[in-house]
Amino acid sequence: MSVLLVADIDQGALAPASARVLSAIAGLGPVDVLVLGNDTDAAAAEAANLVGVARVLVAKGLVAADADADVIVALSSGYHFVVQSAGSVGRDRMPRVAARLDVMPVTDIVQILAPNRFVRPIYAGNALQTVRDDQPIHVLTIRASAFRAAATGNAAPIQRLDLAMQSSVRLIATHRTPSDTPDLATAQVVVGGGVALGSAENFQLVEKLAKKLGAAIGATRAAVDAGFAPNDWQVGQTGKIIAPDLYIAIGISGALQHLAGIQGAKKIIAINTDPEAPLVKLADVALIGDLFDIVPKLTAELDRLGVKR
Ligand SMILES: Cc1cc2nc3c(=O)[nH]c(=O)nc-3n(C[C@H](O)[C@H](O)[C@H](O)COP(=O)(O)OP(=O)(O)OC[C@H]3O[C@@H](n4cnc5c(N)ncnc54)[C@H](O)[C@@H]3O)c2cc1C
Repeated sequence: MSVLLVADIDQGALAPASARVLSAIAGLGPVDVLVLGNDTDAAAAEAANLVGVARVLVAKGLVAADADADVIVALSSGYHFVVQSAGSVGRDRMPRVAARLDVMPVTDIVQILAPNRFVRPIYAGNALQTVRDDQPIHVLTIRASAFRAAATGNAAPIQRLDLAMQSSVRLIATHRTPSDTPDLATAQVVVGGGVALGSAENFQLVEKLAKKLGAAIGATRAAVDAGFAPNDWQVGQTGKIIAPDLYIAIGISGALQHLAGIQGAKKIIAINTDPEAPLVKLADVALIGDLFDIVPKLTAELDRLGVKR
């Protein structure tokens, strides 16, 4: 059985999610990685370096989900699995691919039990469902944060494809929020802030601590809705799913919708005035007190100790 893994590309480079998806699907059969887009030489080279990749296929992407789905479908014949991470691009493309192939996609997979049996969360992560998929071709999205990255050290061949796809859909512009912090979905340490921060200015307490730890920054929906943090920092059911080694939650109550996004976190430190807050009860370490007192002290102490990541 063979697998077509559609790579996630971030500004011409291979996004960390693809290496994680590769390790998730390693047991399914030989994996060809499809690098789709423009100016993707770096991404193709990085994909070829991943252990477990048989071939890297490079095709010019039209960079709009509807058009890219046509390219993926055109290349999918002969493959038993068409897979991408369950990030925003995969979630946009793969249902279109499945519709064109007239199959049902299996989305958000966190475990592969057998080539036709997959585990996925339901009810905002409160239950896990095992599904059997006996369709002739499996169109899958994988929750990358649930898996470790595949090793590097391969030299898979890179094949450039000349596909002349036509589409009435055109990408007009992409707006990117500049950021020097790690990718939230795959970061090892995440510092998250809630609405208790009170303002965008105060939210810089979270940002300063995150910077000190080399961590990604997260936020609750309440904090995002209040305008304290940008939309792409939202963690939870309707935001990003994270699985860091350490999550520091500052002034966050732990509503079900937020917890749905942090279930993969290995250790949680909660800073909260309320000892009864759900996230405090779930945390491995709880610092009960005022965040405006604790967080600056914590950052200063890390400074004093010379901690730098
Ligand atoms: C359909 C739907 C989808 C949703 N999706 C998401 C989602 O993806 N992500 C998400 O986060 N939410 C989501 N929500 C919203 C969610 O229900 C909560 O409203 C939200 O998570 C609460 O955010 P919060 O913890 O910042 O605020 P609150 O629940 O108000 O909690 C604030 C916390 O800060 C503590 N606090 C207050 N002052 C201080 C202080 N000075 N020092 C220390 N601690 C202090 C309080 O004790 C409290 O625990 C969704 C809701 C719905 C209905």
